[in-house]
Amino acid sequence: MTTYRAWEVTGNRTFRLVDREVRDPEPHQVRLRVQYCGICHTDVLAAEGLRARADQPVIPGHEIVGVIDAVGPGITDWHRGERVGVGFLAGHCGTCGTCRRGDFVSCRNQDQTGTTTDGGYAEIAYARTSGLVRIPPGLQPADAAVLLCAGLTTFTALHRAAARPGALVAVQGIGGLGHLAVQYARRRGYRVAAIARGREKEAFAR
Ligand SMILES: [Zn+2]
Ligand SMILES: [Zn+2]
Repeated sequence: MTTYRAWEVTGNRTFRLVDREVRDPEPHQVRLRVQYCGICHTDVLAAEGLRARADQPVIPGHEIVGVIDAVGPGITDWHRGERVGVGFLAGHCGTCGTCRRGDFVSCRNQDQTGTTTDGGYAEIAYARTSGLVRIPPGLQPADAAVLLCAGLTTFTALHRAAARPGALVAVQGIGGLGHLAVQYARRRGYRVAAIARGREKEAFAR
């Protein structure tokens, strides 16, 4: 039986490097060889046991870039060798009430990658196909990974804002999310104000 290495966490910050058995993906799932996994502040939910079953080990990490290694039974639209990303929302069911209204984010049968289901601090990860995005070939894994949570969050906020190009957009907090928001806002043609405490982040924001 082939195994892969993974970092599990149990309780509050009890990390363990373990060997897990490689298994076949379930229906609606793919198996990924993880190329890169970003670190997000939300990983604190797993790392510090702020989740429902903290006594059970979980593999954190929800900014996963990987190459499909195997597809589950019945899957025809994803293939071995394709590079994909997985974020915090682990894939919607498509059949619950909220999904049927097109509100996939609020799906009642959706796991949270790296918190309620295993994530990407591992050599192998498993993911529901409805949660996958394709990663273009020219994009480096490390650059793509951060877009899957911090990037998605800030991009969506700007995308949904009723602001036309040329409008003044303020980004409060120039950290893991804010530094991406500044770049998105600039590229979307806004005038951008970066707001932080003190002058420490000024050069970075510019
Ligand atoms: Zn995140
Ligand atoms: Zn659903």
